Amino acid sequence: MAEFKNPYATEDPFVEAHFDCLECGGKLWEYGIQRRMVCEDCRALFKTTEIFEAQAN
Ligand SMILES: [Zn+2]
Repeated sequence: MAEFKNPYATEDPFVEAHFDCLECGGKLWEYGIQRRMVCEDCRALFKTTEIFEAQAN
């Protein structure tokens, strides 16, 4: 796996989320504070609620 440097990691703790990117299928990481998820592959940014709704469908 390529090293993934997150530009927000110094400010907010983020955890690995068990969801796939809606754009490329890559692994998403969740920002617990901002309720956002970012893809480690294409760097797409999603709202957590957006991911939940997509996974439910
Ligand atoms: Zn992606």
